[in-house]
Amino acid sequence: MRVSKVLKAICGFSREVVILAVEVVGGPRPRLVVDVRPKRRRRGRCGRCGVLAAWLDNGDGVRSWRHVDAGYATVEVRAVARRVECRSCGPTVAAVPWARHASAFTRAFEDLVVHDAIVGNKQAAADRYGTSWRAVNNMCVRVATEALGRVDLLDGLVAVAIDEVKYKKGHKYLTVVCDHVTGQVIWAARGRSKETVGAFFDALGPRAAGLQFVTADGATWITDVVAERAPDAVVCLDTFHVIGWATKALDEVRRVEWNRLRQAGATKAAKEFKGLRFLLRRNWENLTISQREVIWSLETANRRTFRAFQLKEELRDIFALPLSQARAALDSWLACASRSKLAPFVKLARTIRTYRASIEATIEWRLTNGIAESNNASIGRIRANARGFHDPEAFITMIMLDRARLAPDLPWATAS
Ligand SMILES: [Zn+2]
Repeated sequence: MRVSKVLKAICGFSREVVILAVEVVGGPRPRLVVDVRPKRRRRGRCGRCGVLAAWLDNGDGVRSWRHVDAGYATVEVRAVARRVECRSCGPTVAAVPWARHASAFTRAFEDLVVHDAIVGNKQAAADRYGTSWRAVNNMCVRVATEALGRVDLLDGLVAVAIDEVKYKKGHKYLTVVCDHVTGQVIWAARGRSKETVGAFFDALGPRAAGLQFVTADGATWITDVVAERAPDAVVCLDTFHVIGWATKALDEVRRVEWNRLRQAGATKAAKEFKGLRFLLRRNWENLTISQREVIWSLETANRRTFRAFQLKEELRDIFALPLSQARAALDSWLACASRSKLAPFVKLARTIRTYRASIEATIEWRLTNGIAESNNASIGRIRANARGFHDPEAFITMIMLDRARLAPDLPWATAS
């Protein structure tokens, strides 16, 4: 087998790439330098817009691109970066088959690093490949921008969920829009205000008329804009948020009871009670037998907290019922909650009465939690992996790469 053929296979070069020479430069870590050129063509393609254009000159001459490592060696692809005279862009470096425009890395290398940045985080990817966080971030932006130019995520939307996501302490939020049908994130921007939601509808344009359902958490900065920009859409309340309200009310009851025990001097009981927090937050069906016994024991130990847990679970069950049964169940739940003498639940009953129409729409159209909940969990994971984001744009890029399924395939999955 000829060396160039071996090399071509190892580097995953397509037929569009011609190998001219190869050398190994020593050092603690050897560098495999491969001189290449694209297959000769009468005309080249503009690196910026991709249109065929006449050759101009050799530009700044030889350039190199970092390529996927081969064994112990790093690999460098070297070629003359010729320029074309593009009708719309002017003199521009021609497109090369191995790299994206204006990048010091090959396409395969970028895809690999971005893949690692999504699975882990940017710093880990930077350490692994011996590059900087900034370089990895730029790769993510290039890959996401390219992918977004290929697909129109806003096309054919019928049902969306609009939600807010925290990216930094101190009330720094993004607005994130998901498609209920595909479960993908389709749009995200910094801020949570009427202007942010307005920007989504600006991007959507006349396609807003096709929207039939919008789920949200009931915040007026969302619902007011939806009512104005997509008047025919039914506004539903994400089940996820309603259950969230109930979990919060339950937590408030638990905290009040815990403080009461502490002030009464029952330190041991108070301590045990504090540990209940995460148990109470969980869904009944996810509890183990012994955990269920702990909850059951509350019926005698602390009836108020037990009742609060029951109210949370009962509300959850209502969302699984067909609409007519759910309506009746909601009536009796509201009556129970209002009479419960548990202030947070009395308040919650009032809130639910306010949003009753949106809640019933959610039950009727079965646009339940799944989407918002799983996307929220995944976005939380992205944020945790990165140990927080200072730059909202960097966070948005990672959300789009991961949750809009714009992540690149591993290079060898697409090599032709
Ligand atoms: Zn051009």
